[in-house]
Amino acid sequence: MTDLHRLSIRELAEGLSQAKFSSRELTEHYLQRIAKLDSQVKSYVTVTPEQALRDADAADAALKAGNATALTGIPLAHKDIFCTKGIKTTAGSKILDNFISPYDATVVEKTKAGGLVTLGKVNMDEFAMGSTSESSYVGATSNPWALDHVPGGSSGGSAAAVAADLAPFATGTDTGGSIRQPASFCGLTGLKPTYGRVSRFGIIAYASSLDQAGPMARSAEDCAYLMNVIAGHDAKDSTSVKKEVDDYVANLSNTSVKGLRIGIPKQYFNVVGLDADVKARVEESLKKLEEMGATLVEIDLNMTEAYVPTYYLIAPAEASSNLSRYDGVRYGHRCENPADLMDLYKRSRSEGFGPEVQRRILIGTYALSAGYYDAYYVKAQKVRRLIQQDFLKAFENVDVIAAPSAPTTAYKIGANLSPTEMYLGDIYTLAVNLAGLPAINAPVGFDKDSLPVGLQLIGNYWSESQLLSIVHQYQQNTDWHTKRAAIAEENA
Ligand code: GLN
Repeated sequence: MTDLHRLSIRELAEGLSQAKFSSRELTEHYLQRIAKLDSQVKSYVTVTPEQALRDADAADAALKAGNATALTGIPLAHKDIFCTKGIKTTAGSKILDNFISPYDATVVEKTKAGGLVTLGKVNMDEFAMGSTSESSYVGATSNPWALDHVPGGSSGGSAAAVAADLAPFATGTDTGGSIRQPASFCGLTGLKPTYGRVSRFGIIAYASSLDQAGPMARSAEDCAYLMNVIAGHDAKDSTSVKKEVDDYVANLSNTSVKGLRIGIPKQYFNVVGLDADVKARVEESLKKLEEMGATLVEIDLNMTEAYVPTYYLIAPAEASSNLSRYDGVRYGHRCENPADLMDLYKRSRSEGFGPEVQRRILIGTYALSAGYYDAYYVKAQKVRRLIQQDFLKAFENVDVIAAPSAPTTAYKIGANLSPTEMYLGDIYTLAVNLAGLPAINAPVGFDKDSLPVGLQLIGNYWSESQLLSIVHQYQQNTDWHTKRAAIAEENA
């Protein structure tokens, strides 16, 4: 079969269980596509063909023996931030260039236990800091829709791999938009779950109070399948929550769009820098939801101006603490011929970290230092609470909140935005992480340059089923999520 990459996760699962094709055939098909097409997309940092085929054979044996689970034999790609036993994990950083974790992240362990086949590890911004995936030390990844454009970031490799049909779906992480924004730039569906829904164990930490893993795929249905595998409490992550996990697939039709109250924050649609095409496509998608029976309710989110400064204080503060472990002693890059211990620390870190990571360590260390801690860090934490309260108040009157995922479509590679310009591009995603809420991106059309536009729906705590269900129904009434970039149409 030459068109296996066109099948949805449900179709793949059915095909495998009915023995229409084997996991080995499917895995080989994807490996061939990667070998032929990824030199243009550059989404993978590491491809693991031997292990993938071994896992595929094991999956085929399980399918034959009748002890397969729902997704046994289906391939996927992991963002290179998830620790994988025996496979390099770089987090896009030179400082972890040769790092091989002795254990699997819980998310990886769960996908393995679910019989999924790992094709490899995909590119990302260094330590997940960025919005273009260009800060990776291995170089930029291309947006499958326009190869001279970025796929977004930090989970840009995950988005590009799926959008080019080099993986049926992928894992990502989202600290301030890193699932939703690349999903938006690449025309995909991506879910950032409630903080505590998915284990952070074995995910290289960026900002621990904001980090959360989630699925990136073509459709809400495909995301639901992956959520069923990765969600749940984990004793190894003290912030993961002991709360029953929904059956996200079974719940796909459970939320009625009829009668759904969708909040439209006034402040969000007057943001300077909101692209006219993005605004138009998002408004058209809301109109569609209205036709399907939803009510649009104008709401206030008064803290909007505080999102960017608050996040860019708290995230670097946590990063400066988390990244202190890369000292050139225990693991990772070590400088040549250190004169003494201080020289070893200084040079290993200066050589190992890229400029954006160094910038954040400096900002974060400054904000946490004696004398500035109260004025910056503590203040930011107080504002963070106000942002959360703003959302909780809004949810008294609406079921979900709509926004663009990003004010623009994908940037050109090498556009070289200033840090401030880049940070302002995160305006729509950051507050969700500061408040710990779940949110989803869905593709809703294209701009004048044929680049994808995304709609973001923000839900109340633990409303992943609801968000997936709303997008699923939208996708049954529209076909944006079925559009393919030209490179995805190419056969291997
Ligand atoms: N772009 C944001 C940042 O650079 C978000 C990144 C993320 O979610 N990992 O911090």
